[in-house]
Amino acid sequence: MAVVTSFTDITETRAISARLAHDATHDPLTRLANRTLVLSRLDAHDRGAVTVLFLDLDKFKVINDSLGHPVGDQVLRIVGERLRRCSGRDDLVGRLGGDEFVVVTGEVTEPGEVRALAEHLRAALAEPIGVLGRQLHLDASIGVVLVGAADRRSAEDLLRDADVAMYQAKALGRGRHHFFDVGLRERMQRRLRMEQDLRDAVQDGQLWPAYQPVVDLRTGEMVAVEALLRWTHPRHGPISPAEFIPLAEESDLINVIGKEMLRATTRELATRRAAGLDLTLKVNLSARQLDDPHLVPAVQDALASTGLPASALCLEVTESALMRDQEAAAEVLASLRSLGVLLAIDDFGTGYSSLAQLRRLTLDTLKIDRSFITGIAESHDAEAIVTSIIAMAHAVDLTVIAEGVESAEQADLLRSLGCDQAQGYHLGRPVAAAELFGPQ
Ligand code: C2E
Ligand code: CA
Ligand code: CA
Repeated sequence: MAVVTSFTDITETRAISARLAHDATHDPLTRLANRTLVLSRLDAHDRGAVTVLFLDLDKFKVINDSLGHPVGDQVLRIVGERLRRCSGRDDLVGRLGGDEFVVVTGEVTEPGEVRALAEHLRAALAEPIGVLGRQLHLDASIGVVLVGAADRRSAEDLLRDADVAMYQAKALGRGRHHFFDVGLRERMQRRLRMEQDLRDAVQDGQLWPAYQPVVDLRTGEMVAVEALLRWTHPRHGPISPAEFIPLAEESDLINVIGKEMLRATTRELATRRAAGLDLTLKVNLSARQLDDPHLVPAVQDALASTGLPASALCLEVTESALMRDQEAAAEVLASLRSLGVLLAIDDFGTGYSSLAQLRRLTLDTLKIDRSFITGIAESHDAEAIVTSIIAMAHAVDLTVIAEGVESAEQADLLRSLGCDQAQGYHLGRPVAAAELFGPQ
């Protein structure tokens, strides 16, 4: 016998299944489309020409952490409403999770209009939100992918490319939009691969310190060595620190690498000094290491465990790292100084520091950037700049080192200008410890 269902039962069942279908494709917090629905909208079969805008809120974590999750949820709901308000009737607005949103539009596909739309979305988010008696101002980084009607990229690939473009917008300083292009994806993949390789390199001991002599210009004697990191990749050979240090600086890797560098080089120098070489060790610190609360204890530990006197260690920090957050930098340098180590300002002349700032930082050494030394023998301007840097540094009792000295002519000129010390290919290239000092 057939089951007889009443009319009201059928409507109810339909309503329930419609709700279940809706729930399966929508984000419960904002009522926006969820990832499933976004992916099906982006499905290559019937999407036509569309634009994907991938938004990630800037500094949302701070709001969540400092004001609590209920406030965070409220902010996300408001963001959802504003994005919906800015979008057309046939556009799809979705939340992919966390503070990531996406807008898919088939109406705005011309680059100029897309640009305007992205900025319109940012402006909508920037309107103040009042919570707990304060005004929050949001901003977002937006990755944009333009998809032609004939484009065969899968829905997953489009979201990934939009994510890559968003990441690039963040890397360029946040609060902006950035268009995806294929070169971007290749660069990104290369970076990711290199970052993984670098993690392996740390594990496998592929990183090692080279040492470059620093010479006293009056006596011609080697008085110090600068430790410079080297990476010998098992397949790609040597990779320049100029390439991999910035990569390491984007993650905590630089702190791991920096500590290992300190440990290895202080050990090396302590051994060489015990064998009679009276040399100072110079080690580079990156901006990010200055923010690491473990830096000062790590330096202290390296000195204590190797027996290298603090006065034989000079830490080099670039001018730009010092100028980034002067208050914080001054504090870390003061703690380092209290250990008794020497401090140098590196790449001097490339940033915008002033004499007054330098004086406050109580440094020992100033290194004139190579770009000023390169033209010194040919150009009167370069010579005049170097002359005034030396005078200024000497006025505040700093030892001056010229970087990148590549000829006898440059060395002679620098000596006559009163420069104290120099390093460069003319005086000695960075080489392995055994090559510079002989076997241990
Ligand atoms: P830097 O501290 O300014 O180091 C000097 C750079 O100039 C080194 O490049 C050195 O090999 C190069 N150099 C020395 N003499 C000459 C010369 O006569 N001519 C030319 N053209 N170049 C010369 P390198 O070894 O490639 O290092 C590049 C940068 O990477 C360093 O610049 C430093 O900022 C960073 N770096 C290297 N090792 C470390 C490290 O252990 N930690 C951190 N945080 N940064 C490091
Ligand atoms: Ca240096
Ligand atoms: Ca330098």
